[in-house]
Amino acid sequence: MPSEFELIRRHFTRPTPQALLGPGDDCALLVPSEGMLLAVTTDMLVEGTHFLPDTDPGALGWKTLAVSLSDLAAMGARPRWALLAGSLPTDDESWVARFAAGLFACAGRHAVDLVGGDTTRGPRNLCLTAIGELPPTKALRRDRALPGDDLWLSGQTGLAALGLAHLQGRAHLGEALRETCVTALQQPLPRVELGIRLRDLAHAAIDVSDGLLADLCHVVKQSQVGAEISLARLPPLPRGIEPLLARHCQLAGGDDYEILFTAAVDRRDELAALAGELELPLWRCGSILAAPVGEVRVVDAGGQPVDFAARGFDHFA
Ligand code: ADP
Ligand code: MG
Repeated sequence: MPSEFELIRRHFTRPTPQALLGPGDDCALLVPSEGMLLAVTTDMLVEGTHFLPDTDPGALGWKTLAVSLSDLAAMGARPRWALLAGSLPTDDESWVARFAAGLFACAGRHAVDLVGGDTTRGPRNLCLTAIGELPPTKALRRDRALPGDDLWLSGQTGLAALGLAHLQGRAHLGEALRETCVTALQQPLPRVELGIRLRDLAHAAIDVSDGLLADLCHVVKQSQVGAEISLARLPPLPRGIEPLLARHCQLAGGDDYEILFTAAVDRRDELAALAGELELPLWRCGSILAAPVGEVRVVDAGGQPVDFAARGFDHFA
């Protein structure tokens, strides 16, 4: 293994056209765009907690950046810069090279410059800070949902949790579904463009990382409202899998990195048009209620409340 500095030079130093000064000095120097706010977020990925030890390093590099870009997207920020603090075992430079290739693939796709970081020896643990920009007053905050808003969800939730269940031998998926779900788990697509376009359409937003219902709970609590979510309006469950498990993963699986947002009812046509333009399904799956504050009610196709515990969802938790 090369020295710390050689490792940084070889694998983590790329041109940084968006920075006045990138890696190599005591600090990076960044010039924010005139009149913009900075949005800043950090996420840590710990081996054994957030990823399995045999995870493909390229996929992990991608995900290390993607999860933070998802946070920026959920605020409506355009990503620009990132810093990577990594603790790495010293025995495998090819692992580092593949990790960096995955990270820079995601960075290139979203025009993000890696401008600095820290590299130490230790158990594998990756901490990424992402910085983005957005116009003042346009941030998509969790505490801005209004009674009467529609509730919307991008893409599909549950696939990543099914992928994890498959890798851990808890679920058996057919070949095509397995591929889809493992890719959803290992290489999530942050909804960066959607987040930016929602600046002028949505009231509140959050990215779904802990599970759809859990993250919706954050929105209703912080906005001091309630919500109803309709199972019949969520994306159809994947076929060829036990429906109760699929439903559990859809509502509570986590690691999805979709955007859950609220918008006024008179924005439906614009949101439908945006879904077509971005080629990303947007599901109008519920509504925001004035009461009961802090509570999420799940209803079936007939509008009847569904009780998860009674339906056995916790069995799979
Ligand atoms: P210092 O001792 O001043 O903290 P370091 O020796 O830790 O500096 O890092 C040297 C330079 O390399 C710094 O500019 C730092 O931002 C950059 N750097 C360190 N690790 C990484 C990394 N994993 N990715 C990108 N840049 C890094
Ligand atoms: Mg340092």
